[in-house]
Amino acid sequence: MGMELADIEAALGDRYPRYRAKQLYEALYSKRLLDLSRASALPAALRTEFPSGALKVDSRYDSIDGTVRYLMALEDGKTVESVFMPERGRDTLCISSQVGCPVDCKFCLTALMGLERNLTAGEIVGQVLHIAAEHNLEPKDRQMNIVMMGQGEPMMNLDAVLKATRLLVDPAGVGMSERRITVSTSGLIPKIEEMGKAAIRPKLAISLNASTEEQRVELMPITKKWHLKDLIEVCLHYPLRSWEFLTFEYVLLRGVNDTDGDARRVRKLLANLKCKVNLIALNPGPGIPFETPDPERVESFQEIVKLGMPCFIRRPRGLDIYAACGQLKRMTEGADLVDISY
Ligand code: SAH
Ligand code: SF4
Repeated sequence: MGMELADIEAALGDRYPRYRAKQLYEALYSKRLLDLSRASALPAALRTEFPSGALKVDSRYDSIDGTVRYLMALEDGKTVESVFMPERGRDTLCISSQVGCPVDCKFCLTALMGLERNLTAGEIVGQVLHIAAEHNLEPKDRQMNIVMMGQGEPMMNLDAVLKATRLLVDPAGVGMSERRITVSTSGLIPKIEEMGKAAIRPKLAISLNASTEEQRVELMPITKKWHLKDLIEVCLHYPLRSWEFLTFEYVLLRGVNDTDGDARRVRKLLANLKCKVNLIALNPGPGIPFETPDPERVESFQEIVKLGMPCFIRRPRGLDIYAACGQLKRMTEGADLVDISY
């Protein structure tokens, strides 16, 4: 898992005819046989020589709203989280790119873990294939969407993220559309530029979360290194495909960044971009020193931003099982957070 066709060819060397590499590749990514001993087209020796590298589940948490949070077991004993969010006509898989996260955003539980390590491309694809298998999803149809918004800052692991994306969109393999994969970043400017140059790449989402430089420095200290003005500038030059919009995410924190003035500044900041805005009312968690705004405040913020660009309110999913945005911190204790007010 995580090997491209050329990698598999290299691994087989001249011990097998070349077409065997292609068969292995298809068994794993197109037929999605997570247990290669079931790949009947392959000779017995080949079926057992290579373990598929599929991930195993350490634990699974089911929300009352249908969301499922998985704690996936990695080979070195670490665990990472992935979330499945079924909806009518559309399923979303939220996938991690790192174990923990080194970016110190003040409203995010994952930040409290720090960074443990990067995931490999195989571990990223493995999360997708595991959830697809368990819920009988067909990656080739339009129903399935992937967001790399789980644990981690994807731009700090860009090579593996892009490799995973190539594997997920290859028509000879998993066969998803690039339009249905989104990567979200806290704003690492050089990496955003690098991703823009990749031939095959996911859509770009940016966690904005503030309307001024000073406010963003407080909430997302990474702004001291990559300034808000420069972040907007790199977005202005980002090579969007004809069908593509930038997405900006904005976590609303009561009394901190949720005023009408903030909404007007956000609208102005993004005025010249082909973009949409997703608002997320803070999902609370232990150790997070902020509160969630009232639904009326969120709606009034939305009304103001909407005058400039499409603006949506993201409904939290899986709050009761610590599966919602910013809550992925390997929580295993019983959660008492059932408050699905949106
Ligand atoms: N590291 C990447 C992707 C993972 S975070 C990034 O920051 O973009 C995914 C989204 O969850 C981000 O937009 C982030 O701003 C948001 N988020 C983090 N903590 C949150 C919280 N407590 N409540 C709601 N959203 C949160
Ligand atoms: Fe990391 Fe994203 Fe959480 Fe910030 S919001 S700490 S970048 S996972």
